Amino acid sequence: MSSSSYDIAVLGLGAMGSAAALELATAGLQVVGFDRHRPPHRFGSSHGRSRVIRQAYFEDPAYVPLALRAYELWNRLERDSGESLMRITGAVMIGPPASTVVTGTIAAAERHGLDHEVLEASELTRRFPAFRPADPETAAVFEAQGGTVVPETAIRAQLRLAARRGAELRFNQAIESWSAEPGGGVRLQTAEGEVRADRLVLTAGAWAPDLLGGIGPRITVTRQTVVWMAPSAGLALFLPDVFPVWVWEPASGPTFYGLPALEGFRGGVKVGIHTLGESCHPDSVDRELRESDEPAFHTFLSENIPALEGRVLEGEACLYSNTPDANFVLGHHPQHPQVLIAAGFS
Ligand SMILES: Cc1cc2nc3c(=O)[nH]c(=O)nc-3n(C[C@H](O)[C@H](O)[C@H](O)COP(=O)(O)OP(=O)(O)OC[C@H]3O[C@@H](n4cnc5c(N)ncnc54)[C@H](O)[C@@H]3O)c2cc1C
Repeated sequence: MSSSSYDIAVLGLGAMGSAAALELATAGLQVVGFDRHRPPHRFGSSHGRSRVIRQAYFEDPAYVPLALRAYELWNRLERDSGESLMRITGAVMIGPPASTVVTGTIAAAERHGLDHEVLEASELTRRFPAFRPADPETAAVFEAQGGTVVPETAIRAQLRLAARRGAELRFNQAIESWSAEPGGGVRLQTAEGEVRADRLVLTAGAWAPDLLGGIGPRITVTRQTVVWMAPSAGLALFLPDVFPVWVWEPASGPTFYGLPALEGFRGGVKVGIHTLGESCHPDSVDRELRESDEPAFHTFLSENIPALEGRVLEGEACLYSNTPDANFVLGHHPQHPQVLIAAGFS
């Protein structure tokens, strides 16, 4: 009955699935990849024209080796694709001296011998005049290797190279269900028929909970808003040669992050809320910015980065997939070793 059989199927071709498909095709495997849309797109977790990348990972020093490897692979992808993907601007983690972003960044940097500088509030403002912490007790950690990656360009490059290396990529084709075969192998059901592969990589982002059976409910999806500000005072303080990427965990209220004005005078300055937003499902979430989303940004910016206050040029919602302890779900399916899960990137 089923006509085609592959070494490995990749379910979901966003940031993670496109990277997996490229690596697997490069390794010489017969790869088939599926996506319900045509990535890059704005329905999942990988849109918004920029991402923060950094090495001194405050969330847990255990992630530092992965981050260092990611830098190598971004550099390789730039060489192989001829695209410019990564820009090093420096990163600054800001908060009270006992905050997670400050203590966690120092711990990760010390454990792995990464260059970093601890700054007091006055020094932070001297280096980056846009930052004017309302709380004089604020501290900061500067990491010169932090910077930005362009997710849409990266996904496009990964898919293009994966296809060139023989991966068969099927867009606008949702996997309706999958099943593991007792002797190994998997069967995937699409509207157009069944496909068989020896193994499956499950990289379905915010849809992963629907596809993971009993593990699914442990991953919760939240609506996360970002805005692009047009600062009243102009963009000069926010251009990427003078302004870093940043994460700011204030003593109270949500944690924010932001990036320099990467699109120069055409675009605004991006700011996002990292604290978890409302729970949602990717098929019904409101992806537009609502008026009620805006006041939190204005309050934080007027208190701490007043030069960035101004008009909201545009905004949107994106999806986080969160695990109970905020660690990634990365490894073999507990019942089906032929299935690899890469989800819950929190
Ligand atoms: C606002 C925001 C800001 C962020 N900032 C940062 C940051 O600065 N730095 C950082 O490192 N990370 C950041 N992240 C997190 C990062 O973007 C995500 O971890 C990453 O994009 C997740 O990629 P993914 O491949 O898992 O998901 P996606 O890219 O969403 O890919 C999943 C894909 O699976 C497809 N799919 C789903 N179900 C099916 C199905 N049944 N059949 C076929 N296809 C299917 C979807 O169409 C989609 O294309 C941010 C996320 C958001 C939302």
